[in-house]
Amino acid sequence: MDFDFPPDDDPRRLAVRAWLADHPEPTARQLHDAGYVVPHWPAPWGIDADPMHQLVIDEELRTAGVRRPANAIGIGWAAPTILLAGTDEQKARYLDPIFTGEEFWCQMFSEPDAGSDLANLGTRAVRDGDEYVVNGSKIWTSYGHRAKFGILIARTDPDQPKHMGISYFICPTDLPGLTMTPIVDATTTHAFNQVFFDDVRIPAENLVGEEGDGWRLARVTLANERVSLSSAGSLWGDGPSADDLLELVRRSGGADDPVVRQRLAGLFCEAEVLRLNRLRTLSARLAGRTPGAEASIQKAMADEHGQHVMELAKELAGTAGMLDGSGPPGEVGESGRRGLDDEPEGDRQFPDVAPVWHYGFLFSPALTLGGGTFAVQRNIIAERVLGLPRDHDADRGRTWAEARAG
Ligand SMILES: Cc1cc2nc3c(=O)[nH]c(=O)nc-3n(C[C@H](O)[C@H](O)[C@H](O)COP(=O)(O)OP(=O)(O)OC[C@H]3O[C@@H](n4cnc5c(N)ncnc54)[C@H](O)[C@@H]3O)c2cc1C
Repeated sequence: MDFDFPPDDDPRRLAVRAWLADHPEPTARQLHDAGYVVPHWPAPWGIDADPMHQLVIDEELRTAGVRRPANAIGIGWAAPTILLAGTDEQKARYLDPIFTGEEFWCQMFSEPDAGSDLANLGTRAVRDGDEYVVNGSKIWTSYGHRAKFGILIARTDPDQPKHMGISYFICPTDLPGLTMTPIVDATTTHAFNQVFFDDVRIPAENLVGEEGDGWRLARVTLANERVSLSSAGSLWGDGPSADDLLELVRRSGGADDPVVRQRLAGLFCEAEVLRLNRLRTLSARLAGRTPGAEASIQKAMADEHGQHVMELAKELAGTAGMLDGSGPPGEVGESGRRGLDDEPEGDRQFPDVAPVWHYGFLFSPALTLGGGTFAVQRNIIAERVLGLPRDHDADRGRTWAEARAG
């Protein structure tokens, strides 16, 4: 790490504090108007904040207990794609309500037969006058039932090589012929959906970029990722961290069993390695470099670390830990259950999840699947970081993980 955090009287801090004094409980609209939802964006949406300025804003908002609107796919994926390749009309129509959280977005990429090998997708979009007629199915669509729009990739030209015949659409979720079936996961939560398209007519003006450019767009949108340091939580940056678990153990009188002590020490070391790697990633950003190896290994290590934290927490709860809703006692959690009707809140990956242990334990197997599976991450590290030969099936899609690997 070769940087210092700005001091307490840094003018950028004072500016945020002055704004917070005028807006002690800012609405999403006020946050957006101030450019604090995506400070790294150009005006009128952001304030062109460099990485350190972004961190200062994050820190001040966090200290004041202010959360950004919960719209992870909208803010993290849809908006950068629309900024990059959208028309002026699309920018004017969609960006503002994404940043204020008024219009929640979902991601319609994965299909029953196209996950890691995403370029194999079979959902078809056929041009018919001023519309595209879409048929097929998407799956694992997180919070699709709450979304007003989805980013959809579909095959517009089956005669092109598989990466090239794909286009990128803005898909309203209330179109006739589009149905969403809930999938309740192992945590008993309804977050996932399967989406069926039965002659769904999407206006051609909802195409983003050129027809056939969808694969490139699906890959490049995360390049504009916000710099962040607040990701010690073991559920993709949210939820309880290894430190929270260690604190619980300390408060319960410590651990006598040497094996348990060793495992706790192991968790501490993993968390520390991840923290230092986050700082290295930040150093790279501050130096104007796109983090390479650091970013690739971060996800692979953090996903497994999350599983380790949750497994040990559950084990430490003993036989009581086998019960539904159980987990270590303490402020960090009572019941892990999310209700179907809970309202999203805050700028977390899991907008409506109380950061609790029981839920985290049941969710944790998903950590090494979503956003690029464990094995696909390993392939990327092998090829890009270690320079090993490419996967024998080099044509396989890797959008999820590649987008993050940059
Ligand atoms: C919590 C969560 C949220 C998600 N949200 C969304 C969403 O909102 N929208 C959306 O579109 N999708 C979403 N997904 C889907 C996610 O992107 C896919 O699960 C992921 O891409 C893997 O695809 P798959 O499930 O089809 O598994 P597969 O690709 O079928 O993989 C099955 C197994 O084969 C292994 N494997 C696959 N390819 C290779 C290879 N080349 N080398 C070695 N091993 C390989 C994998 O590691 C895995 O163990 C979500 C998934 C999760 C877990």
